[in-house]
Amino acid sequence: MKKISTRSNLLLAGLTLAATLFAHGGQAQVDADHLPLEITYVANEGFLIQSGDQKVLIDALFREGVAGYATVPPTWRDKLEIAQAPFDGVDLILVSHFHADHLDPQSVARHLENNPDAVLISSPQVTERVLAAFLDKPDVQRRIRTVAPQGSERIRQTVGRIGLEVMHVTHGASRASIQNLGQIVTLGGKKVLHIGDSEATAEDFRRLQLAKESIDVALLPFWYLTDLESATLVKKYIHPKHIIAMHIPPAEADKWTRRIRDVFPDATIAAVPMAKKSF
Ligand SMILES: [Zn+2]
Repeated sequence: MKKISTRSNLLLAGLTLAATLFAHGGQAQVDADHLPLEITYVANEGFLIQSGDQKVLIDALFREGVAGYATVPPTWRDKLEIAQAPFDGVDLILVSHFHADHLDPQSVARHLENNPDAVLISSPQVTERVLAAFLDKPDVQRRIRTVAPQGSERIRQTVGRIGLEVMHVTHGASRASIQNLGQIVTLGGKKVLHIGDSEATAEDFRRLQLAKESIDVALLPFWYLTDLESATLVKKYIHPKHIIAMHIPPAEADKWTRRIRDVFPDATIAAVPMAKKSF
């Protein structure tokens, strides 16, 4: 893997890495009782998480994004919004927080209209923005659930056979008013953690008690994965079996990929849209 990241051609390196890493089975033991968990990278912190016919979209329904960070390629964005394969039959839509590189309310609204089975579960700051599109549509309103976890509280929800635990994870002291959700999704017998734009400290993580959860796959912003101090924090307080690095600015993908590989050699790097990996 190392020789790949020293290549100067950023695009080639990114493509090769993602193809290699997303195809690499790692040490995952496929439990015979469960279908494999498949995670497809959409853009930035956006993913499609699937096991059999159960599908969850998280942070994938956005449009303009934020300068410097990955956006959804236009053809995929349309499929996302009109709920077309592979984004058909989505059961649950999750959004960590309302920032434009994680949410476009119109994009979520369009998916909800095109997929009468989808349920949105998120914070008041997200759901109030989406609900504004459905003031006269109680049938869609009923599929929007608002959760507001306080302190280290966990709110548990189920949608079909999909389990969800939602908690507040700080976006940083300077942005304390932002409701950023940590979310544990259980499907196909596996647990996936997404912590949004977390800037949680060791003390914050200690309170969240995530290490007890036996997290199978943790979707973590790259800034937790590039130095030894943060690595210690991830290992001690999250202790996931697998890590996917997200929110990597495309122009800096080569640099951050190299750093992440030094600290977490087995981590998967989310860099190429629609790359998929099974766990
Ligand atoms: Zn962000």
